[in-house]
Amino acid sequence: MSAAAAPRTNLLGLTPAELEAFVVALGEKPYRARQLLVWIYKRWVSDFEAMTDLGKDLRRRLAEVAEVRPPEVVSEHASADGTRKWLLRAGRSDGREQAIEAVFIPEVGRGTLCISSQVGCALDCAFCSTGAQGFNRNLEAAEIVGQVWLANRLLGAGPAGERAVTNVVLMGMGEPLANYRAVLPALQLFLDDRAFDLSRRRVTLSTSGLVPQIYRLAEDTNVALAVSLHAPNDALRNELVPINRRHPIAELLAACWHYLDAQNGRSITFEYVMLDGVNDRPEHARELAQLLAGHDAKVNLIPFNPFAGNRFRRSSAEAVTAFRDYLNSRGVTATVRRTRGDDIDAACGQLAGRVHDRTTVRLGQKMVAVEVQT
Ligand code: SAH
Ligand code: SF4
Repeated sequence: MSAAAAPRTNLLGLTPAELEAFVVALGEKPYRARQLLVWIYKRWVSDFEAMTDLGKDLRRRLAEVAEVRPPEVVSEHASADGTRKWLLRAGRSDGREQAIEAVFIPEVGRGTLCISSQVGCALDCAFCSTGAQGFNRNLEAAEIVGQVWLANRLLGAGPAGERAVTNVVLMGMGEPLANYRAVLPALQLFLDDRAFDLSRRRVTLSTSGLVPQIYRLAEDTNVALAVSLHAPNDALRNELVPINRRHPIAELLAACWHYLDAQNGRSITFEYVMLDGVNDRPEHARELAQLLAGHDAKVNLIPFNPFAGNRFRRSSAEAVTAFRDYLNSRGVTATVRRTRGDDIDAACGQLAGRVHDRTTVRLGQKMVAVEVQT
């Protein structure tokens, strides 16, 4: 097979060290990698022809063997509150289009992008619509990085290097620690000053509690950690977050405190989705306070986002406030997550990557193209 026919390497998936190895393998000097990084991550340029300081031959060669290709946008939705959601193509499987979602949440002084790490998720948490769709596949590093790169470009990041995305959270579809191989280089690119140059406090990985990978993460990086706890005892957590049957709460918390020690981190955020009558009672708040008091822990209470076919209900505003106030009274900082983008299904756990396949149907005498939900 000729080089031109081989799949091109998507440079968005390469760390600076890997990019350097890539250009050296093409017979180029290592500093070419630094030039490429500036074009890709400071000027948001993907067309090699526009990278004028690279020399004509190298530009031509790169166009043959490489590409800078973010995921393709299937559709874009803008919420009345400024939140934007993109449905992104993630290939086909079993004759069906697959998609992932990325959500941009603008706030004063910052812009947070919530990204996906897998198509679907195997962990099957009882209240999550991504889990309900099952697992399709892991995203590649270029697809994870590509979400942030694309959002920056679509949101007008400019040639002067200004960025729209100031914070990245891996809280979209999928369990990031179940796709460690691709997530780690993505995290490295988010932090690297030659690439996205985000501070470690502005990159948050959320996990449902894959304990061995939390220890590994502590060795490999120092991003902020969020842990989806959702229940203060094993009996309840076994039901809500099935991975708890393999890694119970005591093991999970030990891994969390290790992560903090190893990273000299400030605190771990524990996510707790409020389910009416299930985990939102005063006794749950008491148990939770006992688990976390005295540790560098914050609790983020998430209003449950209902979806079709799910048996849970959102807790009342009074129950959420009482839960929050009790935790705070016991010295455990607790906040309530403001829901954003409700009108476009952009909220946590709603990211199911529903894709609309185009198909043609007969309507009277006419054939018309319609969108069919698959
Ligand atoms: N798999 C990772 C990250 C993706 S889920 C994890 O579980 O942490 C991101 C967050 O959304 C998690 O805290 C998850 O528990 C929460 N979530 C899932 N479904 C939800 C729903 N229907 N309503 C509110 N939050 C939900
Ligand atoms: Fe997977 Fe997270 Fe959803 Fe659980 S909450 S099914 S781990 S995406």
